[in-house]
Parts: sequence; structure tokens; C-alpha cells
Amino acid sequence: MATIPRLYVDAPLAESGVIALDDEQSNYLLRVLRLEEGAPVRLFNGRDGEWSAAVRKVSGKRAEVIPAAQTRKQPEHAGADLTLLFAPVKKDQTDLIIEKATELGAARMVPVLTERTQTRTVRTDRFRKIALEAAEQTERLGLPEIAEAVSLDAALDGLEPGTAVIFCDEAGDEADAPWGGQTGRAGPMLEVVAGLKGRPAAILTGPEGGFTPAERAFLRGRAVTYPVSLGPRILRAETAAISAMALWQAVCGDWG
Ligand code: SAH
Repeated sequence: MATIPRLYVDAPLAESGVIALDDEQSNYLLRVLRLEEGAPVRLFNGRDGEWSAAVRKVSGKRAEVIPAAQTRKQPEHAGADLTLLFAPVKKDQTDLIIEKATELGAARMVPVLTERTQTRTVRTDRFRKIALEAAEQTERLGLPEIAEAVSLDAALDGLEPGTAVIFCDEAGDEADAPWGGQTGRAGPMLEVVAGLKGRPAAILTGPEGGFTPAERAFLRGRAVTYPVSLGPRILRAETAAISAMALWQAVCGDWG
């Protein structure tokens, strides 16, 4: 059975409401899905849980939806929340990071311009569209916040006090070895996150070239900042972000 389509609406959800849809949403329901008058849809807005609703055709190109009943409650207390601080990389890989972070339950994402970040212009509006579509597909009840790109310092300063910064550190301390070799590598992420249960966390991943020695020294010397290794191999930035978020969700998040 095809699942009933799910739509994010930026409007209050209540029995008596009628919600007008914009061109894009109308086109999606009427043209792409070819829904008929009265067809069921599911609505969420990030505040009122999920509602069953019906489509009403205003014209061949315009639709509105009529909420009927709440089918999922908005959780009172979301669990410990997760922020992803990520250095943007190439377009397709960054799009993948946004989509997977949405599926993996990140509450917010902050593009961080580190010293070796090559992608300096960041299309936040594009990220928000990717996150919205991913949130509809992944059955989330809310959208992740997506911040404008900031410097590493600003990203760290912008965190809620006490947020544990899980610093994905790819490098070792051997100055003349590729990626600093294995000496001085951070401890396994699993051991670190086991001690962070119940705490808001921010996972930090770097760009194609990794973090500079100066950035690593600054981060390793910072309070509430926990360097972690994601194993002996150098992962692509998107692989590292996805792997670290999955591990955090499994130990500290809502995969329990
Ligand atoms: N050159 C590759 C990988 C660069 S490393 C690329 O083009 O993507 C990208 C980031 O992924 C690092 O800064 C770090 O945050 C994370 N990372 C990759 N491998 C890691 C490892 N083994 N342990 C911890 N973090 C890692």
C-alpha cells in the first residue's frame, strides 16, 4: 500500500482550519501525485504533531488541505538534542550530509568555515529545501534548523552552554606522516559517547583537507570538547558525519 503523502505546512493545525498550499505543494499533490478531491494526506508543522487531512481542489493548479484529526502527538520533551557542525565540502557531498543529518535526527546543522574549507559560499536556502523534503520522507515531526555559515569560533560560541562538542579528529601527531599517522590519535568514539548520555551534543567534522594543527590544538585544549577517532582509515567528510551521527543516536539518542 502506498504510504499516504506527508506534507510540511507552516501553519497551525486544528480541526477547523483550511490551509492554502503554495504553487509547489499544489503542483506536487495535483500534478505529480495526481491526487483527487478528498484524497488523504498527512500534515506536520513541527509544533502540533501530525494530522490526517483531505485535499480540496480549488482549481486545476491550486489545492488546499483540510486538517481532520491529530494522529501523532508532538513529543513533550525531545531527547538530548544533536547539532551537526560540519565544514561544507563539494556540492553533492554537502547535499548528502544535509539529507542524512535530517534522517539521523539532527536538531540543527551549522556549516562551519574552517581554515581548509574550500567551499566558502553556502546555499542555506537550498539546504533548507533538502532538509524539508528529507523530513517529510523520514516521518520527522519537525524540521532541523539550518544556520548560516559561520567561522569555527562563532559556531562553538553559538552552542548552548554545556553542549558536549564531539570533535571528529582524523589526525595523529606525527608531523611527517600522512594525516599525522596513528601516534596521538583520539580515543574511540564509542568510549567517549558512552559518557555523554543525556547531554546535548554537537558533532564537528572537517573539510576535505581535515583540520590544521592549530585548529586541532585549539579544539583539544577546549573545555567540554571531546576528540574522537572514527577508526584507523580516513573517511570522506560525509562518511564521517553520517557514521558519527549514527553512533551518537545508537548510544545517546533515540535509537535505544
Ligand atoms: N580527504 C577526505 C577526508 C578528509 S577528512 C575527503 O575528501 O573528504 C574529513 C573529516 O572527516 C575530518 O576533518 C574529520 O572530521 C572526519 N574524519 C575522517 N576520518 C576520520 C577518522 N578516522 N577519525 C575521526 N574523524 C575522521
